[in-house]
Amino acid sequence: MLDRNGREIDYLRISVTDRCNLRCKYCMPDGIQSLSMSEILTYEEMCTIAETAAELGIRHIKLTGGEPLVRRGLISFVKKLKAVSGIEAVTMTTNGILLEKELPALIDAGLDAVNISLDTMNPEKYREITGTDGLDTVLSAIKAAGCLSKTELLGPDGFVQNAARPALRVKINAVSLDLGEDNLRALLDIARNMPVDVRFIEMMPIGFGKNFPAISHRALLEKLKAMYPGLQKDERRHGYGPAVYYAIPGYQGSVGLISAIHGKFCDTCNRVRLTSQGYLKTCLCYNDGADLRAILRAGLPETEMRAALLESMREAIFRKPDAHCFDKPAQITENAGMNAIGG
Ligand code: SAM
Ligand code: SF4
Repeated sequence: MLDRNGREIDYLRISVTDRCNLRCKYCMPDGIQSLSMSEILTYEEMCTIAETAAELGIRHIKLTGGEPLVRRGLISFVKKLKAVSGIEAVTMTTNGILLEKELPALIDAGLDAVNISLDTMNPEKYREITGTDGLDTVLSAIKAAGCLSKTELLGPDGFVQNAARPALRVKINAVSLDLGEDNLRALLDIARNMPVDVRFIEMMPIGFGKNFPAISHRALLEKLKAMYPGLQKDERRHGYGPAVYYAIPGYQGSVGLISAIHGKFCDTCNRVRLTSQGYLKTCLCYNDGADLRAILRAGLPETEMRAALLESMREAIFRKPDAHCFDKPAQITENAGMNAIGG
């Protein structure tokens, strides 16, 4: 559907849990206050919301968290979402720690793409950022997933087309923290050796992210141009997101820059977010949205409940804020951390 600014909203991020097996220092360094399971939506409730979202024009669902792979039953949930009429792609973002052993089941369930978050290739820095020694585990998962990624089969929507299964689009997401030349080269070697895009994300002042500088991607782009003189804009569509892509001659994957702060893309924003507690958020910066859990659990007969859900979601999406206000921190009304919002 179109919001009041005429933006087509076709992308929903669902946070399936606030919990995580890492403690990234810009996200949830101290863990979380544990919630009772009854406060978290069941997969059935999330599925009802996905069905309603599809009626409103949502075509792509991204599973996030917390760490989505720490919640039991995720594979069946992927399968159910894939069966929702109107949903064209189901993808996931993960820290990669539990990914490798789940890959066959995820592919079997029909997952279309996976983003693996990895900020540094340096084991000490990885430990410093995430609080664990998991770098080798993540690299092994990237290797396993990367073997299934096929950029040469990219369709017009950025997803793998005409490939005999299994095929999975794989991207690496690095929050721009460790932008030393060694780390940039090591991360981009992944794109050289495998058809995997490597994307850099400007730090956003949400939750603990407020304690870190948002290093400008203008400077990063200049650095990359100096390191890779053949770097050129890559105009192909790589998915549903706001990344701007560049190709390096001879590399199988591309470099992506997601620059929410220094390259504001709100006028083309296509997304809304569902927290694990069932709140529909329409912009990262504000707590405006709709309490869908209250509607799901109001005890209404099924048809009335679905009608109320549809209306509430339609209204909230329609009034989606014009733009984020990261440049005016006093106007930020969102207090939740990124683990609750899902990135
Ligand atoms: N645990 C999963 C993961 O790490 O991919 C999914 C949830 S995590 C919140 C989703 C993404 O948000 C990760 O790539 C993470 O690096 C990113 N992220 C977390 N806090 C951020 C912040 N303040 N600014 C920008 N990105 C952030
Ligand atoms: Fe966990 Fe992802 Fe947050 Fe890191 S960024 S603590 S992996 S939810």
